[in-house]
Amino acid sequence: MSFAVGTGRTPRMALRARRLRRTPALRGLVRETRVHPSMLVQPLFIRAGAGGREPIEAMPGQDRLGLADLPGEAARLRAAGVRAVLLFGLPAAKDAIGSGAWAIDGVVQEGIRVLRTADPALVIIADVCLCEYTSHGHCGVLAGAGDDASVDNDASLELLARSAVSLAEAGADVVAPSAMMDGQVAAIREALDEAGLTQTAILAYAAKHASAFYGPFREAADSAPAFGDRRNYQMDPANGREARREIDADVAEGADMIMLKPALPSLDLVAAARARTDLPIAAYQVSGEYAAICAAAANGWLDRRAAALESLVAIARAGADIIVTYFAAEAAGWLREEPGR
Ligand SMILES: [Zn+2]
Repeated sequence: MSFAVGTGRTPRMALRARRLRRTPALRGLVRETRVHPSMLVQPLFIRAGAGGREPIEAMPGQDRLGLADLPGEAARLRAAGVRAVLLFGLPAAKDAIGSGAWAIDGVVQEGIRVLRTADPALVIIADVCLCEYTSHGHCGVLAGAGDDASVDNDASLELLARSAVSLAEAGADVVAPSAMMDGQVAAIREALDEAGLTQTAILAYAAKHASAFYGPFREAADSAPAFGDRRNYQMDPANGREARREIDADVAEGADMIMLKPALPSLDLVAAARARTDLPIAAYQVSGEYAAICAAAANGWLDRRAAALESLVAIARAGADIIVTYFAAEAAGWLREEPGR
């Protein structure tokens, strides 16, 4: 369409989308996606020892917490309106099979009991993996030695299942297997049911890409692999069809909810999962996604609050019902100030 400037003629347009963008209230009225604090999950790193918050350098604003710090953290989250946490552990000692992952007095098991006492209504989700507990830093037990060593899928399943039962017995509402071993959801469901833990839900990391964005987490959880990498069990970020098969497999194995990770690099998969299953879908905005926004904001290159909230709304718009994010407590505060957001 062309028209001369200044002739006074008004072009007839089918779409005048700007009509509904005119005022904040109009924009609020037609907003399609809202993020609410009740959909946010705050990850927490629990460390063995006396306590004291220990800042995580690559994740400004995030700390490793001792058991003594947990009641205060639970109160802070409750005040912010965040009602769910995802727990990771930093044990005092590690071994080849990761036995700290299912120890009755393991660091996360103890943390769950402290949190449950501090806030009985808190949704406690416990990560299920071995990499934080193995001396070699891989997510399962090894078969072979030296250059031939690799993670033994089926031997690892038994240990992941044992960990899940132990975490559920400590009081976790949800267990979240993240090791990317084939069959892990079925193995965990069977073990939970056999132990009478039929009400413990499984949040399955259905498609977890081998991502560069996990870098800061490995500092936070001290879980970098001592050799090699995780590409023979985590997924190739290039593969979308394979991710959809992984989602289908976890649904078939009995997952109650599925998770995609990392979040922003996987928005197409969040949308694909939404179209594929009616189960609740979670997306994990991982450490590197958080660190990138923090670093740019610290340099004055991005507005921290605006960039964080825009990233969260994009994850929700793609189809996520649940967002795991290191911004959870902070974002919940921002959302209270802008409830129509
Ligand atoms: Zn792992």
